[in-house]
Amino acid sequence: MVRFSQYVVSILSLFLWGEPEVPPAEGGCLLNNSSALTATNQRSNASKSIAIVGAGSAGLAILKTILDLPQETRHGWEVVLYEQRRNVGGLWLPDPNEPQPPKLPETPLYPRLRTNTPHPTMTYPGYTFRPHTPLFPTHEYVEQYHVDFAVNNNLTSYIRLNHTVHSAGWKGNSTVGEWVVEVHHTNGEVKSITKRSFDHLIVANGHNHYPRIPKFQGTDEWLAHTPTGTRKREIEHSIFYRYPERYVNMTVLVVGGGASGRDAVLQVGPIATYHSLKEDKEPTPDANVTVVPRISHFTRTSIVLVDGRSLDDVDAVILATGYEFLVPFLSRPSSDQDASVGLVESPKTTLNCTTAPTLITNLRYIFPLWEHIFSLSQQYPPTALSFVGLPVLIANCPSDIAQALLIAHALADPSTLPSRAEMLADLVAQESRLRERGYDPYYAGHKMVGGDDDAQAYQNNLVRYLKQKGRLPDDGKDYVEPWRRIARKESFLLGRAWRRIEDNGEADKWLDGVETEDQWADLILRLVNWQRKHEDKYGLHGSVYVGQPWDESGF
Ligand SMILES: Cc1cc2nc3c(=O)[nH]c(=O)nc-3n(C[C@H](O)[C@H](O)[C@H](O)COP(=O)(O)OP(=O)(O)OC[C@H]3O[C@@H](n4cnc5c(N)ncnc54)[C@H](O)[C@@H]3O)c2cc1C
Repeated sequence: MVRFSQYVVSILSLFLWGEPEVPPAEGGCLLNNSSALTATNQRSNASKSIAIVGAGSAGLAILKTILDLPQETRHGWEVVLYEQRRNVGGLWLPDPNEPQPPKLPETPLYPRLRTNTPHPTMTYPGYTFRPHTPLFPTHEYVEQYHVDFAVNNNLTSYIRLNHTVHSAGWKGNSTVGEWVVEVHHTNGEVKSITKRSFDHLIVANGHNHYPRIPKFQGTDEWLAHTPTGTRKREIEHSIFYRYPERYVNMTVLVVGGGASGRDAVLQVGPIATYHSLKEDKEPTPDANVTVVPRISHFTRTSIVLVDGRSLDDVDAVILATGYEFLVPFLSRPSSDQDASVGLVESPKTTLNCTTAPTLITNLRYIFPLWEHIFSLSQQYPPTALSFVGLPVLIANCPSDIAQALLIAHALADPSTLPSRAEMLADLVAQESRLRERGYDPYYAGHKMVGGDDDAQAYQNNLVRYLKQKGRLPDDGKDYVEPWRRIARKESFLLGRAWRRIEDNGEADKWLDGVETEDQWADLILRLVNWQRKHEDKYGLHGSVYVGQPWDESGF
């Protein structure tokens, strides 16, 4: 087990390096009240300047990968990672405050969150969780993993904690220019605003932060008419969910069959009564709830379902309806009047990848992007703006690294990428292949619709491309190792195995001596065989709902 004292020490060490190792850019103003001044625009003398936004799994992956480039390649580069929160880890870093709706919390993380995938599948290749980490760990272990990764890979001096990128606008044209980035820094009561120019902007801001709230007719009326003698009616998104105890003595309807919905149903299960699912969603095994179809509308007294039934006894609705793909700092007008907005929010757009005059988000899909990474907006060069971590239904850290490898090599040498026209043609072809499979690319967005097979092919193709281009040595192997494929495929089975082991108090026995990546891989394979033999003999019992790849797009 990770020792708690160790954990505290290394978390503390991160607080200590929250201040920049270099002073804020000249002209950055420090004020001792809540108002702040904007500094004049600054350019560094670096041969190439790169800003990364976000220190979650994705941001740490790209920072490490850029620093791994040979010294001579990245000589003279300046790399800065801005993170708005007090530490690294992204959504795995708990919010110290209880949610106060409608103000969005810092993270959707809730205290009883455990991973739903075995942690060896969630690792950056070659960097394991600490020895003795339970196979399906609680969130603290995942947070610690990110802290360890940042500290042990010497990433910390490049990271500016408590620095929020407020806006980033492009000043230039389709071949040359710079990002004018406005950064707000908070240090206790002291706030400062800095304006800096960067050649490249890498967005790793996560996509589980802006709730998708479906609009139903009649919600206001329903909310206004709590029956006397019962708890005040409420409708909240799952981003605000923290404890099942909050719902004691309430009848709860959980909406949505994605990971948050299933988890909420399992946790609130003994209390909740209903789980509203779309027709194509499976009920959650072991959940003590009545499955009902989608909501049609609300009335003063009840919630009406699409099959005409009415639910009259619901007190609280948890909307586990997923998240919107937004990058507010890219869509906000820049304080520099000559700079243009990098991403347009247009929920009902009819534009597509070939007609879009700029980068667009329809809140499900950011387009046109090559390989979910490089913006093909005609406003700026393709390497000016890139994204890490957009794909959904994928093992994040390995996928982040595969994407990061492509970005790092493209930054080092833009000719690594095909021409903009070739990338656009490739994207349009990919979209039509999706349509042939029955998916609307503008709805499916960044989802790996074919599950693990698509997700693994995606990563393998990114790395294969770099090998074909001679940017990486060709070892003749796929990027996604066979054991990772097996572990993702057998996540359910491994979940049942791990539950059996924990129930029998045998976790230490299995975890003793497991340290290296090869040893974790071996443990996975041994567990798969062990559980399969058990289930062949005794049948599938004690089904445990863990091990489903995280999918927030269930609504
Ligand atoms: C509740 C939940 C549970 C999950 N469990 C699993 C699991 O068990 N297994 C699994 O494989 N996946 C899981 N996932 C998927 C999860 O998305 C990934 O594990 C991964 O952590 C996402 O990392 P990220 O870096 O892309 O985004 P985040 O972790 O969201 O990091 C983004 C970072 O960017 C920062 N940021 C954003 N905007 C700005 C700004 N303007 N300026 C500065 N900083 C900014 C944020 O503060 C944040 O730190 C889960 C997701 C959720 C929501």
